[in-house]
Amino acid sequence: MNNFQYYNPVRIVFGEGQIKQLADLVPTDARVLITYGGGSAQRTGTLDEVKTALAANGQREVFEFGGIEANPEFTTLLKAADMVNEHHIDFLLAVGGGSVIDGSKFVALVASMTNEDGTVSREQAWDALTSYCRNIDSAVDLGAVLTIPATGSEMNSGGVINYSERQAKLAFGNPLAFPKFSILDPAKTLTLPERQVMNGVADAFVHVMEQYLTYPVNAKVQDAFAESLLKILIEEGAAVKADPKNLETRKNIMWTATMALNGLIGTGVPQDWTTHMIGHELTSLHAIDHARTLTIVLPSVMRELKDSKKDKLLQYARNVWNITNDGTDVAQDDDAIIEAAIVHTENFFRELGLPISLEDVDLDESAIDPIVKQLEAHKMVKLGEHGKNDLAVSRRILERAVTSHA
Ligand code: NAP
Ligand code: FE
Repeated sequence: MNNFQYYNPVRIVFGEGQIKQLADLVPTDARVLITYGGGSAQRTGTLDEVKTALAANGQREVFEFGGIEANPEFTTLLKAADMVNEHHIDFLLAVGGGSVIDGSKFVALVASMTNEDGTVSREQAWDALTSYCRNIDSAVDLGAVLTIPATGSEMNSGGVINYSERQAKLAFGNPLAFPKFSILDPAKTLTLPERQVMNGVADAFVHVMEQYLTYPVNAKVQDAFAESLLKILIEEGAAVKADPKNLETRKNIMWTATMALNGLIGTGVPQDWTTHMIGHELTSLHAIDHARTLTIVLPSVMRELKDSKKDKLLQYARNVWNITNDGTDVAQDDDAIIEAAIVHTENFFRELGLPISLEDVDLDESAIDPIVKQLEAHKMVKLGEHGKNDLAVSRRILERAVTSHA
């Protein structure tokens, strides 16, 4: 296992009906800006519940900013940041999914970057984003009410921001972006459309894979934890499809997605975010849902990099899919075991209704060149746990992804 520091200050408040805890979690004299997305928080009644809880205790002034897009837009977020300054907001409360939480983290980090006229500087905010928001040393406090389990944003310090005008979808991370708390009410996820439920399961699955599928460093806690999370997602993905109203299933999915990207399984181990980085370009060029880009790219990453990932792929086949060379499954030699594990992964995605090739989303090989150009423009030229996935490797991954193998 490699050396590491582990730090995660986020208070998790988990359970049905827990939104009422906002009355105590948000400072009683705060000037609060509630941020939310395209309308689901209003339609489902969650926004009203949040406002009622905030009014139940103290003298808070509450403002609202709605309309944060799925794949949150830079320009929209700057408007929210202007509102923070205009109303002297000292607490941001994100109500929604990864898009609203990521977007609110960015608002929290850039709100103090103002021009002389008091508006937030587009140039400074863009410079901050292109340098991963690393060098920012103050931020507005933030809390979250999570309504879709998927990204882990509720318990990490990262985010991803889309800037359509520049065809860029860029990640950032800064410890100041950790939420002070996140409320996880699994009953809130019952209103999700099936597509979003499955997107969430897949995003969490790929988060685990990108912290697990590298090379062994004898990190037994992280490995066993990762394998458990993968198995739970496989089991509960099928369960939620068969019985979407089952709250126990929703609870397990919600907590698993949070644990998948809260830093724990990624400490002390190599990581490979190739799938996410290529996926971001697919979203920014073709507006494909985040998770769907991942299920398209991951199987090809596994095939293209199977030699350097061989030991972990065999471990994945054995411990997650129960594929061994003792005749219990189709596989006999290492290559066949690995291919069987990849096909199991593809079938799992397919059964959840997710695409596993570019063809599945009506793209063909003509999509590859522009994606590779974007990777180059965004300096995604040394991806992977060894930093060896250059543009030629990414191109080969995309070529493999054109047609599905399963
Ligand atoms: P999302 O984009 O936040 O939400 C997806 C859709 O679900 C939206 O249309 C939203 O509608 C709807 N929705 C949310 N909750 C709902 C509910 N309870 N009932 C009905 N509809 C609901 O989804 P996400 O997958 O959580 O976030 C994706 C974003 O996070 C991407 O930009 C991705 O790149 C990023 N991401 C971040 C991290 C991280 O660590 N920070 C990791 C991976 C991905 P409304 O807009 O109407 O609310
Ligand atoms: Fe993700």
